[in-house]
Amino acid sequence: MSTVGLTLEPAQLLQLGVEGQLSLDRSDVGRASVDFGGMTLAEPMAVMRPASAGDVATLVRAAYGSAQGFPVSARGHGHSINGQAQAPGGVVIEMSQYGQAAGHGERSRPVYSQSLGEYYVDVWGGDLWIDILNWTLENGGLAPKSWTDYLYLSVGGTLSNAGISGQAFHHGPQISNVHELDVVTGKGEILKCSKEQNSELFYGVLGGLGQFGIITRARIALEPAPRRVRWIRVLYSNFTTFARDQEHLISLHYSAHQSERFDYVEGFVIVDEGLINNWRSSFFSPRNPVKISSIGSNGGVLYCLEVTKNYDESAGGLVDQEVEALLKKLEFIPASVFMTDLPYADFLDRVHKGELKLRGKGMWDVPHPWLNLFVPGSRIADFDRGVFRAILGNKTSGPILIYPMNKHKWDERSSAVTPDEEVFYLVAFLRSALPDPDESTQSLEYLSDQNERILAFCDESGIEVKQYLPHQETRAEWARHFGPKWSRFLKLKAQFDPKWDERSSAVTPDEEVFYLVAFLRSALPDPDESTQSLEYLSDQNERILAFCDESGIEVKQYLPHQETRAEWARHFGPKWSRFLKLKAQFDPKCILGSGQGIFPLASFPCSSLLPS
Ligand SMILES: Cc1cc2nc3c(=O)[nH]c(=O)nc-3n(C[C@H](O)[C@H](O)[C@H](O)COP(=O)(O)OP(=O)(O)OC[C@H]3O[C@@H](n4cnc5c(N)ncnc54)[C@H](O)[C@@H]3O)c2cc1C
Repeated sequence: MSTVGLTLEPAQLLQLGVEGQLSLDRSDVGRASVDFGGMTLAEPMAVMRPASAGDVATLVRAAYGSAQGFPVSARGHGHSINGQAQAPGGVVIEMSQYGQAAGHGERSRPVYSQSLGEYYVDVWGGDLWIDILNWTLENGGLAPKSWTDYLYLSVGGTLSNAGISGQAFHHGPQISNVHELDVVTGKGEILKCSKEQNSELFYGVLGGLGQFGIITRARIALEPAPRRVRWIRVLYSNFTTFARDQEHLISLHYSAHQSERFDYVEGFVIVDEGLINNWRSSFFSPRNPVKISSIGSNGGVLYCLEVTKNYDESAGGLVDQEVEALLKKLEFIPASVFMTDLPYADFLDRVHKGELKLRGKGMWDVPHPWLNLFVPGSRIADFDRGVFRAILGNKTSGPILIYPMNKHKWDERSSAVTPDEEVFYLVAFLRSALPDPDESTQSLEYLSDQNERILAFCDESGIEVKQYLPHQETRAEWARHFGPKWSRFLKLKAQFDPKWDERSSAVTPDEEVFYLVAFLRSALPDPDESTQSLEYLSDQNERILAFCDESGIEVKQYLPHQETRAEWARHFGPKWSRFLKLKAQFDPKCILGSGQGIFPLASFPCSSLLPS
């Protein structure tokens, strides 16, 4: 959530009278200026640790009420890559554990809901998933259903994106497993929302990149937690077989009983030997060290399928048979089965071990030029050929995850954007750049350039990827990213966080810099040359417009003149529905501005043209 300009003095800010803490301390400001990506630095003026949703609302109301506003950003655990939780010159709200220390009350216990037919728990928007796991396990042996691979992320942070892991094919992303939210909007109101109540806000906020409000409470769906996990990895050298098996496994979600499908399906790509024993794959070693050469891949790319089966000891005898039956149908390299068995909580918290190891080597707080893409299932083989087997070379500087998901488990009403196909893959390039790399392939510049090349390859090959945890530079790129959801996104922004610079009805191109080109010509009544006639100049205007149309140059007319309603709708683009709504609200009889020709007199009574 951000508004422009800063009009608040630090002293005024400190007088807001919040219960929690407002800090101008250099170390607090310094921490809120950076994120996990380590590539952007933006200093806020202050940091707030709220004690309650009321504190968050007080701060946002101050921003909304001030003459020009100032940026306010919720920061969960600061694990963004491109400064998404920063608020340059404004206030960062530290939503995670600091808020709780400042007075956030007792946690709510899980509750069984007859109407939902399941348990749920109400959590603070800044709670970390690891704390929710520990709490729900302790209170009834329950756990959320859908996860991220890493649990030191906040509820608000992952729900603002999607929250995905190997359970998403079956349960959907985390945003599909939330029943209700409390949200502080950009006007400073605290609104409860759900599928039934304020549903526009509910779906808008889920996957909404923090644009419409700050999540202060979320009601998370729970299930009885399994006790143990059988964790299996198998290798492939043939991509087609690998992808076919992955897609087969996620299709079992439709029909199979729990005993006849895996509970988690992921995978990763191995292009260099070092990576097989990296921070995401400590699993292979030290008990099971793997040499790629021993697998018979002849130095090529390998693909690792990763699956799990949850079970309780009481049914321990059956898990072996169930796993065996499922593996029998897959076509991995026979000698490449790696299996381990561990408590459910340890499996969910597996990445933390890797974090501790990297921290120990000073390798955690380095730049992370991560790129996460959703790739349509129909083009994943092309992506393999062009990216894994070509652009990447044989050094990757970090894990590369690849796993498919079922689109119908994603609610289209949310703001999250995915490809237009039922099966799409997450491909996550989770790379670390080294400050003083031995090899140029480990530098930030090299990896960032490679990301650009991957995106350019997709563009040129017509592979319609969508970025997950998106980062775009221009408004045009954002419009393209959101596609058909863009106009709703803008509408929700205007509704719930209106203090931004797009409130006017003026229409401009979707780019930061655009030119005015003004043809200020006069036609002569009796011209010596035909090029001075009204007919000639009018025709030339038409040709200019046609040329722009054919060349895909998305011009907008200034002082617009259009002939038809369809042309007006196209002119206003995403602002059209709001334009109609405002007309209906403030000039429902279409008395005003008829000379513009948007609502001509002939269209009286015009109420039929307008939304009720
Ligand atoms: C090591 C690591 C592993 C990861 N693994 C996965 C994974 O397996 N699956 C996955 O889906 N993602 C994963 N991520 C990405 C992660 O989900 C996102 O980066 C997420 O935004 C980080 O959460 P955070 O709490 O740190 O959010 P922040 O970085 O603090 O914030 C992210 C965005 O959410 C907004 N925001 C934060 N809190 C709120 C709130 N309460 N209300 C509204 N908006 C809010 C911020 O303003 C910002 O725009 C991983 C990231 C890292 C660093």
